Amino acid sequence: MDVLISEVGPRDGLQSISRIMPTAAKKAWVDAAAAAGVTEIEVGSFVPAKLLPQLADTGEIVAHAVNIPGLTVAVLVPNARGAEAAIAAGAHKITLPLSCSETHSLANLRRTHGQVLEEAASISRLIAALPVERRPHFEGSLSTVFGCTLEGAIPDAQIARLAESLMAAGCDEVGLADTTGYADPRAVRHIIKLVRGAVGDAAVMGIHLHNTRGLGLANVLASLEAGLTTFDSSLGGLGGCPFAPGASGNIVTEDLVYMLEAMGISTGIDLEALFAVRRLVGAALEGEPLYGFTPEAGLPLGFVPANSVQGASA
Ligand SMILES: [Zn+2]
Repeated sequence: MDVLISEVGPRDGLQSISRIMPTAAKKAWVDAAAAAGVTEIEVGSFVPAKLLPQLADTGEIVAHAVNIPGLTVAVLVPNARGAEAAIAAGAHKITLPLSCSETHSLANLRRTHGQVLEEAASISRLIAALPVERRPHFEGSLSTVFGCTLEGAIPDAQIARLAESLMAAGCDEVGLADTTGYADPRAVRHIIKLVRGAVGDAAVMGIHLHNTRGLGLANVLASLEAGLTTFDSSLGGLGGCPFAPGASGNIVTEDLVYMLEAMGISTGIDLEALFAVRRLVGAALEGEPLYGFTPEAGLPLGFVPANSVQGASA
């Protein structure tokens, strides 16, 4: 596997639609995605059920998913209380978003930058108190890093300072998130260079891109060329960010896998099996629009996925 695709549909997708997917259907989705070769799934978010009733069963989904061999079970948490629940459920990876725009942070999490960084420090203390083998990976994610619908562009110095603060608070990694779909390939190259310059290359490996303006895959390519190896995407492009007015649409996992495999970059994911997951989820969410071109067009005649070329990649 050359790159890691982190499927965020069960979290980012389901939180963005009003209907509530039954717990059994979520488990079936996670099982089928893992069977198709997806090795990391963000299965939910530990936020109060009254805020996001769609994700109220996250604890149960985590407890189910951790039994799947080889699967990294990721969750989003808004604060240390959410991290406690995530740890209790056995999540392997915890992501705390820190919005580069303080206005967005107040609107989204009702917290200032300083307050979110205090939560990050509390979470790393919780993790440090665990036996080494039970410690989840802790990512601080810089959301709205490419700009905010409320503040516009965020100054570089502020982004660099927030990245440094997340690492100082004990995060293992700093993620980049185009919450608003403002990124373009040049901005992607610039932000990766800026944040890697602040905290080191090894601490910046992943990016969460949206396809709000159709630049999702172009931005993936720019990220790849800048050295990133982990990409968030959502089955059928479900989701977006309900807190950023006007922003919608994650990049489509099916199209992302197709692009990478066609380029000879192995994802470990079987496309036909992934299309079957799409049919499963489509049936469970009947009437909900699913996006993506590859599942509709089908694979080209003679298509050879990267992972079928033995020895071509480590
Ligand atoms: Zn998103």
